[in-house]
Amino acid sequence: MNFVDLNFIEKCITQLANCTEKDRPFTRLVFSDEFIQGRVWLTQKFKELNLITKVDEAGNLVGIYKSSNNASKKILIGSHIDTVAYGGKYDGIAGVISGLSIIKYLSDNDIELPFDIEVYDYLGEELNDWNMSCIGSRGICGALSEEMLNSKNSNGILLKDEINRIGGNTNNIDKLSNQFQNVLACFELHIEQGTTLENKGIDIGVVESMPNISRHKILIEGQAGHSGTTLMENRKDALVVASKLIIFINKLAKEISQKDNRHFVATVGKIEVSPNYVTIIPSDVEFIIDLRVVNKTSRDFFLNQLNKEIVKFKKVGNLKINFQDLMNSPYIEMNKTLNESLKKSVNDLNFTFMMMDSGAGHDTAHLAKVSKASIIFIPCQNGLSHCPEEFTESINIKKGSEVILKSILDLKDNYNEII
Ligand SMILES: [Zn+2]
Repeated sequence: MNFVDLNFIEKCITQLANCTEKDRPFTRLVFSDEFIQGRVWLTQKFKELNLITKVDEAGNLVGIYKSSNNASKKILIGSHIDTVAYGGKYDGIAGVISGLSIIKYLSDNDIELPFDIEVYDYLGEELNDWNMSCIGSRGICGALSEEMLNSKNSNGILLKDEINRIGGNTNNIDKLSNQFQNVLACFELHIEQGTTLENKGIDIGVVESMPNISRHKILIEGQAGHSGTTLMENRKDALVVASKLIIFINKLAKEISQKDNRHFVATVGKIEVSPNYVTIIPSDVEFIIDLRVVNKTSRDFFLNQLNKEIVKFKKVGNLKINFQDLMNSPYIEMNKTLNESLKKSVNDLNFTFMMMDSGAGHDTAHLAKVSKASIIFIPCQNGLSHCPEEFTESINIKKGSEVILKSILDLKDNYNEII
């Protein structure tokens, strides 16, 4: 079976990759000139495929393949074309091109469907200058609050002004989430951004869940002092305690992830030391733990053990340690019926699959809160992502697209039973 056009995928990836800041490829930050250029390219592709094109109220760019019978039901396929600075050619892009390649097959073969298909470039999935990710997918789910829309970036520009500048209409954004009563399924293809599929030689990762993501701040207050005169036994060095805690966090997370056999990662990537001076014993250290977990029992165990360790250090070191929860976004399961369909498609096409958890958040995480949604992963070389070396073979995008296409065709064949 040869559904999807490999050359088309390769050409599209190359053309879209050219929409980049020239001196730091591949950079296509949301709302930038390069981003607008990317959207002009995508709009042109939508037109070539005879899709109805629009920018919705939340600033998502949409191409609509109309059903033969003006049906009200629809399927969404999409991902994002924005990148981080010095990002790659595939993160997000692969999912949008996948949508195009599916439409191309349907259109080339005059396949009529009892529902519409909408291909999405969800606006601004990557973390941006407003300290927010997934602007567009939050927007269509009714999860962009007034406060978020009125937030300012480092240049004082309101988020809503930028969304409206590129064609959105944030005054009417509320009505978008009503459409989900007519959505039969939301699909996304994404590179794995890890090494599991590549190492196991597996074609497709069918994602079971998106992790619970939480951030926690630890503030340690010791005592500053002269680095030359304060004897070792008299010190309350906040950085030494922070270092021990960070090692503890890393070791505990490793142990849990090995026992658990599900996704469990903990990272300390941000640390501030005061007064941060060569000849002064550090008095205050603040660091943030980024925790991503799919198993609640493991999460509770981790936080419990960490708390015990903090109590121990407080007693031994005679210093203050403050623990604060910063944010907590819930664990989200992908739709089981869609996953069954995706697995069946993999088998029908003689590809291989495994069930897996996602380590990162994606647009689909938001869609899954209001609709039937699922995401599949394809292998990416050496697990590298968010860097110019990011790479996946076009054949991987082709296989993933064929799996989604097959599930769409199955929905078509079983349409009367579904609705
Ligand atoms: Zn992405």
